[in-house]
Formats: sequence, structure tokens, C-alpha cells
Amino acid sequence: MVFTNQESSSTKSASRDLRLPGIGASPGVAVGRALRLDESGRHQFYYVAISGGQVRREVRRLREAFAEARAQLQEIKDKLAHQLGSEHSYILDAHLMILEDDRFQTEIKQAVRRRKINAEWAVRSVTDRIIAAYKQVQDAYLRERSTDIEDIASRLLTILSGHTEFNLSELTENVIIIAEDIWPSTVAELNFNRVLGFATNSGGQTSHSAIIARALNIPAVVGIHNITQNVRTGDAVIIDGTLGEVIVKPTKPVIRDYLIKRETFVEERRPNKQATLPAETLDGVRITLRANVELPNEIESLSLFGAQGIGLYRSEFMFLNRLPDLPDEEEQVELYTRLSDATGEQGASIRVFDLGGDKLSLQGFEAEQNPALGLRGIRLSMRATAVFQTQLKAILRANRRGNLRVVLPLISTITELRLAKQFIANVKRELADSHIEHNPNLPIGVMIEVPAAAMMADIFAREANFLCIGTNDLIQYLLAVDRANENVAYLYQPLHPALLRTIAHLVRVAETVQVPLELCGEMAADPVQAIALIGLGIRALSLVPASIPLIKNAIRSIEEEQVRELMSKAMQLVSASEVEELLARELPLQAPRFFAALSAKG
Ligand code: PEP
Ligand code: MG
Repeated sequence: MVFTNQESSSTKSASRDLRLPGIGASPGVAVGRALRLDESGRHQFYYVAISGGQVRREVRRLREAFAEARAQLQEIKDKLAHQLGSEHSYILDAHLMILEDDRFQTEIKQAVRRRKINAEWAVRSVTDRIIAAYKQVQDAYLRERSTDIEDIASRLLTILSGHTEFNLSELTENVIIIAEDIWPSTVAELNFNRVLGFATNSGGQTSHSAIIARALNIPAVVGIHNITQNVRTGDAVIIDGTLGEVIVKPTKPVIRDYLIKRETFVEERRPNKQATLPAETLDGVRITLRANVELPNEIESLSLFGAQGIGLYRSEFMFLNRLPDLPDEEEQVELYTRLSDATGEQGASIRVFDLGGDKLSLQGFEAEQNPALGLRGIRLSMRATAVFQTQLKAILRANRRGNLRVVLPLISTITELRLAKQFIANVKRELADSHIEHNPNLPIGVMIEVPAAAMMADIFAREANFLCIGTNDLIQYLLAVDRANENVAYLYQPLHPALLRTIAHLVRVAETVQVPLELCGEMAADPVQAIALIGLGIRALSLVPASIPLIKNAIRSIEEEQVRELMSKAMQLVSASEVEELLARELPLQAPRFFAALSAKG
């Protein structure tokens, strides 16, 4: 990517306080000056018909460019490993693999030889064709991989042009990056100490940039469509990664408000003495707060935030940028052992691969008419049995300390649970027969994400070791609202009485059957919703580690008995907005230290 000082093409850039909505990919607030990375500013190159005598020269230029691109990518990979830990450097592996692929290089060289065209044009035409093919693919993850090819093409063209790019690692001022998309190698090149936040036209929750932003705690908004048209380098911008909004050219009062909001956000999440205090209400009810983890490099900071083990390890994140190469058994054993070592007595719940649906899928299982209702979660694992078996073997082998648990996603029938348990028992038997060291003591939990599973929870509770409510999906399926569709986002209502009643039912079942019950959806990271859940009787929450101090603070400011009464009133109400109003009115009265301050900060 190149640095641009070009004027914004949009007339809107003159207006102040322009608010552009997008997808909040990483929470938090950033206030600063924009640095726009502009792809239209890339070097121009042309079709040049060459003579037979020039072919050798062009092929040599290509060979040199391949070698130089390889050296550059290797350097970035090493730097990334150094900055973020080796588990992130795999992002560059896909690039290196494509670049070093014989067919890829040969095809470009053949284009020069056969069509008698210059090296630049050969790179552009071949990569354009590959990108077009990727874009046709149904699978969202694979479609996104076209950006890897574009990234390589751009690097090769830059090298061929002899142009040196602005080096993002040499940023000397703090900036907010604005770009069409942030490509993996650009992310790798960035000097993160200088990047306050970023906003992009494209990208989604699972794009690399979003995941890295979350892991590094950099606020980010993606999928804004028109951010690059509305911002030029040097413009003041505010990124609200929590709300999913960018404010371009904010007025002074707005900047002031957001600086306060930023301070509050940072302060509330600062790991401090709170980390060692119990999450206990004023009337002495203890709540367990565990961590939701997606990336291995988050593991080491868990104790800093006071997490009591891992309540949800989203193991499918291991697949990012890996397909079609799946992580092998040894690699998984190593990772799960790290989870086990880092979480001690509290242990870790590893959710077995939750692939399919709006997430990544496996080869051969991509295209479906209605993926959210299709082959996802446990349904896919029970079909892709080799993948499932490898994962289970790795978990059983890594469980030497006996502190690992597995959780099964998207269970909707008791038969599914029984078959999965049988499958796990078979894997144990195979390990035993082969005399492979493992710990067969592995509690099995069921994610309650499907309304049918919630209704039948008493049956599941008798056959599982614990239940874990996944409200992100439970809301989606209970209210029939696609969790990623902006058009129906207004109907995605965590405080809908239908959900509250469902959760109250699950609490009753867990008490009757005496089975541990946890909750690990995003609701657990929202102070008002988390307190509402405690009022409904939930005693264990799992959430993004950086939000644990905030939620602990909220818990330590309330009386359980009062919020229980409040929620029994809420259960009589008929809509989410009535519940929201009740909580907004009552919580600041009940817990002024926390909630009055929270509403004053807006
Ligand atoms: C959930 O559905 O609430 C959940 C925790 O799982 P995910 O968000 O990964 O689907
Ligand atoms: Mg889910």
C-alpha cells in the first residue's frame, strides 16, 4: 500500500461530524489523524508487446522479482513472529506458499513467452484471472483469500517498477489507518505502537485485520463501504469500535466527549488490583468469570485480567488462513497443552470446531442455500470425522493435568449428543489400544444455542457434564434474526423477554438436575446485560478477557437480591425496549457507584 496525500474525492469531506456506520471489529475508542492508504495511487503499468529477443530479459526480471518478493515476505514474517508471537506469522505462510508455487510462477513466465508481453502485464493478467476465480467461490473464507493474491500481485508489481514504497514500519506519528482493506502483509508491516485504530471499506468479523486488531486491543471498524472516499490523510477521525462507527472531522465538543469515552474505556479495562478481588456482589454472591479466547497469544494475559480459566476456546480459529491444510494432531496437542498449562485448576473448555454457517468451512462442504441452518457445528464435525477424530485425540493427549473439557456446538437433538459421546468413547478406546498416553477423564458440555436444546435442557442436563449457553446463536435462532445481517440488526435483542424466559428456564433446569451452567455469549461483556443475567440466576460467565475487570466492577456494585427482584419484574414485561427502560431507570438507583457513573459517561 502507498501513502497518499490526495484530496478526498467526496464533497462530503467538507462536512463535519460525518458519521459512517460499519462493523465493530475490535472494541474501544481511537481519536487521531488519518493516514489513508490508497490503492488507486499504485504505480501505473502498461501492456507492452515485446519482441522474441526481449523474452529472456522479461523472464529474468520476473525471476528476480519472485526472489525479492520472497525475501521481503520472509522478513515481514520474522518481524511479525517477533512482534506478535510465532502463532501469527502463519498469516504470511499462505502468501509464501502461493508465491513459491511452481505453477503460479510458471504460468506468469509462460504468459511472457507465449503472449510476448512485458513482465508487469503478465503478473497482472494471471493474478486477475486467479482473483476472479476466487471471487466466484461461495465460501466466504476462501473468497477472502483473493486478497492474498492481490497482495502478492501488488508486491511483485512494485518490485518490477523499481519503486520503493512508503515504509509503514517507519511511522513516526500516531495515526488512524484508513484503507480499502488492510492486507495481511500490511498488517504485518505496521508499527503497532503508532497505530491508534483502523477503519476499512471491506472486511468482516473474521478478516485477519479484525482478529489481529482484537488480539492487540486496537479499536477497529470494518465494512464501512465508503470510508476511503470520505477521509483524506490528516483529517481528524474518531473510531468507535464498540459501536461500529467512524466519525469524520468531528467537532470539538464531539472530540471532547470521545476523549472521555476513550479514557473510561481504557480505565475500566485496565488490569489492576481488581484482578485479584473476587467477583462478588455486595450481598456475598460469588460469580465465576472465565475468558473467551480465540487466539493463542491471548492465553498469557488471562491472569492479568483475573480470568478464572477459559470458558470458551473457539478452536476453529486455528483454521484461519490454513485451509486446505488443517492443523495436524501434534500442532493441536501443543496448543491444547498450552491452554491446560495456563489455566491450572480452573481449566479450559475447548469448544470443538464450530465450522460452517457464517464461519469457515471445510473443503467439499462449502455451498449451502441456508448455511446458518445447514451443516455447521457438531453436524459438520460428525460428517468430517477424520478432522473431528484428530482434534479429539489431541485434546485427550494434551489433558495430562485433567483440567480440559470439551463443549459441543449447535447441538439440537439428544441423538446428536449420544452419537458424539459415542464417537469420543471410540477415540479413547483407539488411543488406549495403541498405548498412546492420554487422560480419558474429559467432561463433555453441551452448548445451548438452539431453542430446541433449551426446551429439552433437562434431558441434555442428565447426559452431559455441563451446559454452556451461547447467547449469540441462541438469540439468532430464537428470534430468527441473522446475527450478521445489518438489515435486521434492530431485531437482534438480547433483552427480549423471550430470551430472558429461556434463560430463566435453563437456570431452573440446572438447579433441579444439579448440572453446572455457564453462559458465554457477548451479553456477558455488557455490564447491564451481565447484571440482568445474574438477576436471572446465572452464576458463571465467560467473556472477552479485556472486559473482565469492567464486569467484575459492575458485579461488585450490586446486591444480588435486588437485581433478582428487578428481573422478576422484567420478566412480566412484553418487549425488549420495556426491559431496557426498566434497567436503565433502576440500575443507577440500585448501584449508583457503577451504573449512575456509567450512564453519566454516556
Ligand atoms: C454463541 O453462539 O453465543 C457463542 C459463544 O459461540 P459463537 O459466537 O462462536 O458462535
Ligand atoms: Mg455459537
